[in-house]
Amino acid sequence: MKPKQSNKIHQGHKARKRFGQNFLIDTALINAIAESAEPQDTDHIVEIGPGLGAITGELVSSGAKITLIELDRDLVARLRIDYHRQLSEGRVEIINEDVLKVDLDAVHQKAADKPTKLIGNLPYNISTPVLFHILNHKQHFLSMTFMLQKEVVDRLSAEPSTSAYSALSVIIQHECYVEKLFDVPPESFRPPPKVDSAVVQMKPKAELAMPESDLPAFRDFVHKCFQQRRKTLRNNLKGMLEVEAIESLGINPQDRPEHLHLDDYLALFKLFQDKAA
Ligand code: SAM
Repeated sequence: MKPKQSNKIHQGHKARKRFGQNFLIDTALINAIAESAEPQDTDHIVEIGPGLGAITGELVSSGAKITLIELDRDLVARLRIDYHRQLSEGRVEIINEDVLKVDLDAVHQKAADKPTKLIGNLPYNISTPVLFHILNHKQHFLSMTFMLQKEVVDRLSAEPSTSAYSALSVIIQHECYVEKLFDVPPESFRPPPKVDSAVVQMKPKAELAMPESDLPAFRDFVHKCFQQRRKTLRNNLKGMLEVEAIESLGINPQDRPEHLHLDDYLALFKLFQDKAA
């Protein structure tokens, strides 16, 4: 009897857990993800973690210029064979590096005359650091379409006063328009991940309420506000803002951080900055 093939082996490649490898096998879904980035032959599309090229094929056939960022050198070797023609024509480029170490400014500069779109079925174990790495270079990107753990997508797109609303929701929604596109069940991958997934699209806002240089301080401030989710704002902001100052904005210091809207956080931060000035 033929031995049953391991769930971890897909197209002859053994999935590496440490690289968060769960490969997409559902063709309709793969098409839906690629199409949601609306690839055009005039675009520059940067794919993070192309893996065995499930989404890549769709992107390449759009005629766009493609940059692939993949850490696993075995997969890079396969991609080099699959796309040898496009590589020699300069239509596809492969960067064999950890995306967290890739200079995204330089990647954008290679085709700065084209609109750049980011796409990726991201490795879940590093999705938050990857999101922040990208956020620091978001001005280069027209859109960012990512498959992530559903729980993270729910947080990115959460409305105030819901259980998923968190510091991440406020920080990302301040800088980008966020749209959750669809949920993806574990069966759509090989091997199947232990969690549900979802696809989200983010588009950077053209104008922000503060200069870029203030963003790290704002992100830090929001994290402090949510430090203890079950505690009141007054408690989380102890030593940073007085109760009277919070009240002067019409915000109840006894409220919990999850009930405040983005505008409330912007007003609180402005007060905090003015106090520190
Ligand atoms: N795009 C493929 C798909 O949908 O079938 C693979 C997605 S798999 C969830 C994540 C991919 O990211 C893997 O190919 C993995 O090797 C790659 N990867 C993991 N860590 C990475 C990193 N730090 N930088 C770049 N790629 C990484």
